[in-house]
Amino acid sequence: MREWEKYIRKVKPYVPGEQPDKADMIKLNTNECPYPPAPEVVELTKSFDTDHLRLYPDPDAKALVNELADYYHVKPEQVFVGVGSDDVLGMAFLTFFNSEKPILFPNITYSFYPVWADLFHISYETPELDDNYCIKNEDYYKENGGVIFPNPNAPTGVFKPLSEVKDILDHNQDSIVIVDEAYVDFGAESALTLLDQYENLLVVQTFSKSRAMAGMRIGFAIGSEKLIKAMNDVKFSYNSYTMNQYTLKVGVAAIKDDAYFKEITGKIVNTREAAKKRLTELGFTFPDSYTNFIFATHKTKSAKEIFMKLRERNIFVRYFSNPLIDNSLRITIGTDEEMEQLFAALEEILNDK
Ligand code: PMP
Repeated sequence: MREWEKYIRKVKPYVPGEQPDKADMIKLNTNECPYPPAPEVVELTKSFDTDHLRLYPDPDAKALVNELADYYHVKPEQVFVGVGSDDVLGMAFLTFFNSEKPILFPNITYSFYPVWADLFHISYETPELDDNYCIKNEDYYKENGGVIFPNPNAPTGVFKPLSEVKDILDHNQDSIVIVDEAYVDFGAESALTLLDQYENLLVVQTFSKSRAMAGMRIGFAIGSEKLIKAMNDVKFSYNSYTMNQYTLKVGVAAIKDDAYFKEITGKIVNTREAAKKRLTELGFTFPDSYTNFIFATHKTKSAKEIFMKLRERNIFVRYFSNPLIDNSLRITIGTDEEMEQLFAALEEILNDK
């Protein structure tokens, strides 16, 4: 090894789901929305004013921050925006998890958490979920350097009722608790209503799933003014211009069209409920999902085999090689038509002895 090589940072990166680009594929592997973004968002993308591109965007992202504050009935000083919730979560790890004590998150959860923890030299412990993939509250009563969990959890889809989230907060008055609500808009209950009671609570959400804008990269956090100021101080110490002009404009337009947001999330919930029935008939079991995906295990066929055979048919679902979850598939909810094609393919695969 050359001398300079010793000083190169070595990290084990997060591996995102694949983004294949095939004609006629059915893409149910990265929890994207099967519907287009709001009509005004689509319109704006066609007529974006390029004259302003020579200017920097507003570093405070005021237009988007104000729109979100209005929509969620909080002060603008309580809103932080970033390049997808990954950016917001990464910034939150960097800002809040600086204790000597380990932070806590579940052993089965969003696989980016251990990557950020390693990147920022944060120690962590990963309490096990119970047999039904539920977070056990008692595991989060011990001393810690912070707590983070998605609600609903990923990739399981399991939702923790708000009373239980409140219980975790009550046992963690001396830590910052981050609730990652990437999937909250598909029928779960948001912890935003607890913000008035807990100055140490940060709620993180995204435009990627329920607002059909994964490609635009918009995420946000809502918390007490103290927490948001701390995040902004760290952001402005790293990169002031995270949100480009284009993103800020379409982000505002997406929030304004609440009727469209409710329409597409409602459609996805209906398709998901029908999919639960069909998957059960096909011999799958799964924890009850409150998200835009289902984490399904077949009673006889291995997840890997089903994954490969679907792939041969240009149908992409998510398979995880982590031994804790390597016999389950995470299937994103597509349109009704896409799901019909998935079920037809599954019938073929499962009948093929
Ligand atoms: N949190 C969870 C639990 C997720 O599954 C994802 C999607 N990979 C994210 C956050 C990040 O999503 P985005 O950066 O697109 O907002």
